[in-house]
Amino acid sequence: MRAAKRILMIYTGGTIGMVKTSHGYAPQREAFHALLNGMPELHADGMPWWDIVDMDPLLDSSNITVVEWNAIGLLIAGHYDDYDGFVILHGTDTMAYTASALSFMLRRNNKPVVLTGSQIPLCEIRSDARDNIITALLIAAGDQVHEVCLYFGGKLLRGNRSIKYSADDLIAFESPNYPALAEAGIAIRYNRAALLPACRGAFSLQPMENHPIGVIKVFPGIQFELFDSIMTERLRGIVIETFGAGNIPGHAGALLPIIRRASENGTIIIVCSQCPHGTVSLGAYETSSALREAGAVSGYDITTEAAVAKLYYLFSRGLSADEVRSRMERSLRGEISVVQ
Ligand code: ASP
Repeated sequence: MRAAKRILMIYTGGTIGMVKTSHGYAPQREAFHALLNGMPELHADGMPWWDIVDMDPLLDSSNITVVEWNAIGLLIAGHYDDYDGFVILHGTDTMAYTASALSFMLRRNNKPVVLTGSQIPLCEIRSDARDNIITALLIAAGDQVHEVCLYFGGKLLRGNRSIKYSADDLIAFESPNYPALAEAGIAIRYNRAALLPACRGAFSLQPMENHPIGVIKVFPGIQFELFDSIMTERLRGIVIETFGAGNIPGHAGALLPIIRRASENGTIIIVCSQCPHGTVSLGAYETSSALREAGAVSGYDITTEAAVAKLYYLFSRGLSADEVRSRMERSLRGEISVVQ
């Protein structure tokens, strides 16, 4: 007997469904569907019922924008009551961004939304796609998960905590500041304490708008004055990837007036760390306390991917600059570890 759960798979593109063409690997709907239909495991007893819809066009995920995030969000919202869970088949390059974005856009989501993909296409003999699809479907059909997450290479991670960590390993994603939600060994072992609880209230979708935001990574010798010209009133938000716990180079004198002016213009400045592990602690060093005084807010241990998605989300909700600042320093979907 097949399990009664119903899952909607949304194929967005990416390596998982690519086939060899004369111009290299490219996503192809018919060939991918034929491969899925030819996998006996996907139709076996114990698997949920699943349907698949494709985005049009299918994309290499490097080309994903808020337009595709909205299209995915609309598909989920339009079918929210028809399915028990959702599996998003996505390219690996920006999967952590899309997972972060969906975690914010799907408000009061109670269903498992599992993003997965693969490093090797399903059409190849040696491919990680098989396990990733099968296990993602089983997780989406389970009762434990009430959030947007990412399954890859044996680990289930919170979507907005994940980063693409390896360009070529089959274990390509990490969640450096939060434990895995589950590990798929002989059994799928859930880390119940790490999962978000089910939430109350009616599900709704917050579409994303493409607000002008930026990311700056500081480095030794950075000439801050070069960034002065982009810090105009048009720039709504900027994520600064600082050293360690939130430090900027000692010639901070050059950056602080720029930050102060940007902040007075209403630009939100989020301080993140270049270290994947650990948290920003503004004020721990002289080089970071000046950032706070100039109007920057701490991203704590948020990933750059989640910070970018969260800025888009908060601006799309039409919140004031002060409301965006205060929400950036609070956890909305488990994306940062600050004590509330
Ligand atoms: N460039 C591809 C993509 O992100 C890589 C992959 O899927 O792994 O769509």
